[in-house]
Order: sequence, then structure tokens, then C-alpha cells
Amino acid sequence: MDYSNNSTPTWCPGCGDFSVLRSIQTAAAHLAIAPHQMAVISGIGCSGRISGYLNVYGFHSIHGRALPVAQGIKLVNPELTVIAAGGDGDGFAIGTAHTVHAIRRNIDMTYVVMNNQIYGLTKGHTSPLSTTGFVTKSTPYGSIEAPIKPGMIALASGATFVAQGFSAYQEQLVEILTRAILHKGFSFVNVFSPCVTFNKTNTYQWFREHLVNLDEMNSHDPHDFQSAINRYISTDGLFTGILYENDDPDYYSKLPGERGTSVVHQDLDISNQFDTLMQDFI
Ligand code: SF4
Repeated sequence: MDYSNNSTPTWCPGCGDFSVLRSIQTAAAHLAIAPHQMAVISGIGCSGRISGYLNVYGFHSIHGRALPVAQGIKLVNPELTVIAAGGDGDGFAIGTAHTVHAIRRNIDMTYVVMNNQIYGLTKGHTSPLSTTGFVTKSTPYGSIEAPIKPGMIALASGATFVAQGFSAYQEQLVEILTRAILHKGFSFVNVFSPCVTFNKTNTYQWFREHLVNLDEMNSHDPHDFQSAINRYISTDGLFTGILYENDDPDYYSKLPGERGTSVVHQDLDISNQFDTLMQDFI
């Protein structure tokens, strides 16, 4: 199946987002998801352009609001494979509240954060995930704030799937995204996706030297919550692989009675239901 709509991405040559785009396409192909059965919803930022480069349903939403839109789409049509995608500023600055609530709600969808630890689209400002001491135009003397730890927020919010990938490790990223899509619940995937133009600190080489691969650690058990927390702390969040996964029931499966029927399968002809609705007011 062809998931490319033949648009040419306007990302800078070498941007990590190319690999994320390719990895989503490859994961979808592995799972044989028909393009009309998939929707990619994005926020604002360089990463937000991703929804325009795929031959699937897409919506380029507003800053920090990809998740509400994506959740709404999944709720009315749970048969769609829904992926929300955005940058670290999108998900952990203006959109933080949506990130936390989407995670705890556990709707069956995947959220990909294309984390470059900087605001690229606005020409290189410090983001909530930039490291302490990070020098940009907005922090010329170095950031004095500690960065948010996205995986820890996900775990603390009750995530049922937490993983991290790296744009340069595409084979692993495809495997992670495939598992994330298959996971029955909300999958949080933080991808280290270097901004080659503005972030001269967290480069491909820097990540190669600092990232630990959980797949190579026999002692890591992704079904052990305490182990996941310990692993996050011991690596300072610099790892790739699946950190944590459980099979808690997703949002839809917990809806009671008729409300468990998706909107696209409900009879929306209100005239048929008028008498029933009015009984609430009698
Ligand atoms: Fe990618 Fe950075 Fe260029 Fe944006 S500015 S397209 S994040 S390399």
C-alpha cells in the first residue's frame, strides 16, 4: 500500500522528522492498514507538517491540540487507526494538560512526540525539554530550568504503553510504532528526532553516544512498573525501546451499555429517538 501523497516535505535536509514519517509509513505497511482506515492528526511546529505528507486521513490542528482532535476522531470511529503527532513544545508546553489527560483516559491510539528539544519552526528557542544550560536566542546565558521528563510524566499519568525511539535507529522505531499501534490503549512514543539546523548540542552523534538500547538489556521487564521507573532514572531518560506496557482495559471497553456503540454505528436520526429523549424531561 502506498502511504505517500507525493508531497515533498519542506523539512531541512537531515531533519529527524523524515525518519519518523518513514517509520509510520512502514509500520502501517507491516500491519496492512488501508489508507482510508488510518488518520494522522498533528499539532503546530515543524513536526506538525507530517499529517500533510501522508496518503491517509489527516488534520493539521492547532498548537497543543492534536490530542483532543485525535481522541474525538477515535471516539466517534474506533475502527480507525489514529495517530497523533507533534513536537516537544506542542506536547509538553502548551499541550501538557491534554497530554496528561489523554494518557490517563487510555483511548486506543498512538501519540508520537517528535522530540528535538528545541522550537525549530520559530527558529530555535529553548523548549520545556531542553537541557539545563542550553543556549538559544531565548536563553542566551543558558537555560536555568530543569527539563521535563516525558516518560516519567507518562508513567505518573497512568500510561499503559511508554516507549522511546531515535530517528537514526529506524528499524527499532518501526518495531516500536508497530507495537504501539497494536497496543489496545493509549501508546506514548517519545522519539529523539534531531533538529539539525538549530540544535547543535543534541545531534545524531550525541544521541549515538548517550542512548542505551533497552532491547539489549535482558534484565529489563517492560511489564514491571517499578522496574520501568528505576530504568528511567538510571538512564536519565536516555534510552530507546519499550519502557513499560500493561493490558489495563482501554477507554472504550469500559463504557457501559449502549454508549459502548461507536457514533458511526448509531442511528443518528433524532426523530426516532425523540420520545425516548423527552422522557428525561417528563
Ligand atoms: Fe527539522 Fe529543525 Fe529544520 Fe524544523 S528547523 S525542519 S525541526 S531541522
